[in-house]
Amino acid sequence: MARRRIIAGNWKMNKTPSEAVALCAELKDLVKNDAVDVVYCVPAIDIVPVVEAVKGTNVLVGAENFYIEDKGAFTGEISAPMLKDAGVTYIIIGHSERRDIFGENDILINAKVKKAFAAGLKPILCCGESLALRKAGTYAEWIRRQITWDLDGVSADQVKDLVIAYEPIWAIGTGETATADQAQEVCKMIRDLIAELYDQTTAEAVRIQYGGSMNAGNAAELLAKPDIDGGLIGGASLKADFGQIVNA
Ligand code: PEP
Repeated sequence: MARRRIIAGNWKMNKTPSEAVALCAELKDLVKNDAVDVVYCVPAIDIVPVVEAVKGTNVLVGAENFYIEDKGAFTGEISAPMLKDAGVTYIIIGHSERRDIFGENDILINAKVKKAFAAGLKPILCCGESLALRKAGTYAEWIRRQITWDLDGVSADQVKDLVIAYEPIWAIGTGETATADQAQEVCKMIRDLIAELYDQTTAEAVRIQYGGSMNAGNAAELLAKPDIDGGLIGGASLKADFGQIVNA
């Protein structure tokens, strides 16, 4: 089954609303490609202006975080229905920065995956190992455990709509990319795990991205691998290079 490529930018905490609108204008012609899902995952305060700025283009908007309750006394938080109503399509869940800096664990991440689907959002579920686990050779076991927990109680039909981003932590923002073979090995292992947890049809449908210092120079080689269906891009999503990755 041919899976549609998905190239998503993770803007992190980098653009003010006016800077975000300017970046949309700068990238507009560079990211045109009807064969690819192009997503800008942006800070909460940028969502409304970015949804407006990309209207009529091929770009979809994603969010970077939300809280698991729909509404109520949760000062400072934003809910999945609020994101949906604002025009958000994708939501990053389980990014290593949220796991490591904000203490999110797999129980919360699992609740977020289920809430996102219930609200009509498509999760981009991140997983990946630290440098210590990579060196110890236990990374496969770690990633299997993350995904198994994070998808507990999630149906096969939902998983067909899921994006999983394999992001080795040692490659995020470091300039050190996993080799295409290292990335392919883990993305295939993730697809095999989905076949084991669900079935072959679901495994063939789920889209798996690589993330970690992907850039205009290395994207084509990574994206040529059979189990890499796209990329989650941090630093290079904030500049014209993103257009080259979309069209790699
Ligand atoms: C990320 O944080 O999702 C990421 C992949 O960052 P970078 O591309 O900057 O390594």
